[in-house]
Amino acid sequence: MALARLKSDFVSNVSHELRTPLALIRLYAETLELGRISTKEKKQEYYRIIRKESERLTALINNILDFSRIEAGHKEYEFRTTDIADLVRNTLDSYRYQIEQQGFAFEESIDPDLPPVRVDREAIARALVNLVNNALKYSAEEKLLGVKLYRVNGSVRLEVVDHGIGITPREQSKIFEKFYRTGDPLVHNTKGSGLGLSLVRHITLAHGGQIDVESTPGKGSKFTLSLPLQAATARPANATAV
Ligand code: ADP
Repeated sequence: MALARLKSDFVSNVSHELRTPLALIRLYAETLELGRISTKEKKQEYYRIIRKESERLTALINNILDFSRIEAGHKEYEFRTTDIADLVRNTLDSYRYQIEQQGFAFEESIDPDLPPVRVDREAIARALVNLVNNALKYSAEEKLLGVKLYRVNGSVRLEVVDHGIGITPREQSKIFEKFYRTGDPLVHNTKGSGLGLSLVRHITLAHGGQIDVESTPGKGSKFTLSLPLQAATARPANATAV
């Protein structure tokens, strides 16, 4: 019964999540098409919204596709030797504007001397994007986003910190389950399908790594993704991580 309810919530959450960017893209494209926008700045702003919302749609659809591949046991990771500092910096680059636009203070600290790591680049970028998006979505008064990349003995750690609504100790173990969303009112008023963190966990485990959360309700959260430095060994595609 509980799973059936989760599934039906999921379908309705996903539909809502897809509908918002689509509606915005249509609205702004139609307004531009009518030719009534006179200033160059306004036009530029509308183009930016259209691009940003299409990116949101793409990220969302990629999450859903990844999720269905994982569920079907078809998800495969492609490990390549990677400059992880570069990967993290490039991924954050496409978010910098959005982060500042939303009024967030952004603290970034990336160790430039990290050794190469074997990772699936797209997957690690997706994990980071999901963590960053959550930090942005689940912050209220105090808007701070911190991203740190550093080395601890045999592993590389990627940390995403916020000063947002936080997660109760009881819910901290559940948020990595598929479809799970916490009971916080802000969460209910924020779009989401409860897939992001289950993907982050699957991706991390496939790299032989570990994902941890430290959080205090009303104070904020810290997610730490830890990857082993020696060649990551892929788990079978149907690893039961989700
Ligand atoms: P979604 O954001 O689509 O609901 P996720 O799987 O990414 O799904 O997250 C699951 C739940 O964990 C969220 O619904 C939210 O309740 C909680 N959560 C995730 N990240 C944070 C965060 N940074 N701060 C507070 N709560 C969070």
